[in-house]
Amino acid sequence: MRLKKFEHFEPRTLSEACRLLKEQGDKAALIAGGTDLVVRMKYGVTQPQCLINLKKVEGLGSIALVGENLHVGALATLTQVRCSDLVLERCPMLAEAALAVGAAQLQNMGTIGGNICLEPRCWYFQQGRSWRQARPDCFKNGGSVCYMAKGSRRCHALYCGDTAAALLALGAKVRLVNPGGERIVPIEEFFVDDGMRHTDLQPGELLAEVILPAPLPGQRGTYLKYRKRGALDFPIAGVAAVMSGTTAAIARLRIAITGVGSSPLVVAPPPDYPSEAGLTPALIDLLVEMARKQTRTVSHMEVSASYRKELVGVLVRDALEKLGGA
Ligand SMILES: Cc1cc2nc3c(=O)[nH]c(=O)nc-3n(C[C@H](O)[C@H](O)[C@H](O)COP(=O)(O)OP(=O)(O)OC[C@H]3O[C@@H](n4cnc5c(N)ncnc54)[C@H](O)[C@@H]3O)c2cc1C
Repeated sequence: MRLKKFEHFEPRTLSEACRLLKEQGDKAALIAGGTDLVVRMKYGVTQPQCLINLKKVEGLGSIALVGENLHVGALATLTQVRCSDLVLERCPMLAEAALAVGAAQLQNMGTIGGNICLEPRCWYFQQGRSWRQARPDCFKNGGSVCYMAKGSRRCHALYCGDTAAALLALGAKVRLVNPGGERIVPIEEFFVDDGMRHTDLQPGELLAEVILPAPLPGQRGTYLKYRKRGALDFPIAGVAAVMSGTTAAIARLRIAITGVGSSPLVVAPPPDYPSEAGLTPALIDLLVEMARKQTRTVSHMEVSASYRKELVGVLVRDALEKLGGA
């Protein structure tokens, strides 16, 4: 479990971090809290030759209002996020999701940027070197098989970040900084459904902050997660649901799911759904069915695909009922 040797850079500005990232290319990895990356390095899952540590980049850890929007810096720890008065007041569901990540020690070290950019996980690949050496290489090891979905032509590692589901349901955007400037994109455009490359980050680009819009009148949300070990574990499935309006008339309704595919998934009601009737049992049934159908997932040693689909249905129903349905 000893780490291999690597170079360590500590840039002080975002532009210096981007320049280093571009210069070092595939040899480099960004490190924030290190709670995922260092474990992956110890297991030989990721072997960067140099680490670009973001911890000393100034201004990357603040949580502040800018006009109507809430800006959460990528280096804000999950503890800061879940304890922030601004987060608790405007989008308490994000605090719920941050609290669902691992356990307190991981929340103290882990950042929201690292949580969003979390590498997809694979039951086979994560086992360690000796396990991997016993069989032909999978896509992640440069081979051409996926043990998560046998016969597949692509890697089906699963994205398991908790806060992404909450951010998707809340309609967040991300600010991405690169050597040539920056861009702001809706978070659903940031994720790519591919276990090998699950974000749209370009060479030399990093995530600088998350931008949350002002809450709509009557907005409320919840994040529900099912995991194997209640005290500390990645989601087998996590569901975030946000609704605004009144119990009698819905203004906006959005559901997002994590842990089931190589990227988180958004389930929105059909454009012609009867919003003026509120969150009726019939609408809940429809959304549960939509979520189950849109969940394209894989089986592995611990959980079958059909179990995970059922679980998504149960979590979506529980979340919607909690928001004021039947
Ligand atoms: C035992 C255990 C249990 C865990 N349980 C959970 C869980 O239940 N839910 C969950 O979501 N996570 C879980 N994690 C994973 C991890 O602790 C959290 O996701 C944490 O938030 C990661 O943040 P970090 O700052 O430590 O990321 P790091 O480990 O520093 O980085 C993670 C990845 O993100 C990239 N990265 C980091 N910051 C940026 C940035 N600003 N821009 C671009 N890329 C960036 C890194 O290069 C790396 O690939 C668990 C980890 C362990 C060890």
